[in-house]
Amino acid sequence: MGIRDTTVTVQTIVDAIVNDVMEQRIGPGARLSEKSLCERFDIRRMYVRRALLTLANKGIVELQANKGARIRKPTFQQAVILFETRRLIESIIIQNVVRQRSDEDIDKLNAHMKLEEEAFVNNDRNELIRLSGEFHLLIASFQNNHLLAGFMQSLVTESSLITAMYGQHSFSNCPPSEHRDLVKAIKNQQAQAALDLMLAHLNHIEADLAISHGKSLELVAIAMSEK
Ligand SMILES: [Zn+2]
Repeated sequence: MGIRDTTVTVQTIVDAIVNDVMEQRIGPGARLSEKSLCERFDIRRMYVRRALLTLANKGIVELQANKGARIRKPTFQQAVILFETRRLIESIIIQNVVRQRSDEDIDKLNAHMKLEEEAFVNNDRNELIRLSGEFHLLIASFQNNHLLAGFMQSLVTESSLITAMYGQHSFSNCPPSEHRDLVKAIKNQQAQAALDLMLAHLNHIEADLAISHGKSLELVAIAMSEK
């Protein structure tokens, strides 16, 4: 196997595990055995180890000496920090998108909304979770700040870990109706409305988790006192 093939193989494993996390097929704390990954991808252990190392660098996997690899379990504080960060980053993104979006972008958003609404009607939980995350990545792709767009990928993956750990409902935390209102505001280039809708949307997602508001501060205080 050549160098390029190795890279492709490692990337294939990394992408597959990131997808599993994004669709919440595997949750925080789940053990990733090298042996079963070798069997799943029909690949030598060396490549599996490289993939696990890449995933650890991305903050998706935790590697523990003699204990192997597990999907990372974000703490309460990290969940609170995630939403603080998303509000900051997605405020800038939405303002850029309102100014920079093209008609083609609106077509892409409408096509995406059709898929989300179908998944919602069909009660297809995994598909809806994946599409919900993709909606935020799609929006980020319509503005010219590639660093913010790249950062959004990490934030969306982290969100999947956090909703899997702290979500109070078995369903997705992105209601398609809120995404639809955002699409309208982007289409009509209503900057203030789009910003307000995005912030309200992120607040709703956070409020649905068992980390939010008074509860989160209480839990953070407990977690800190246990250190
Ligand atoms: Zn959303």
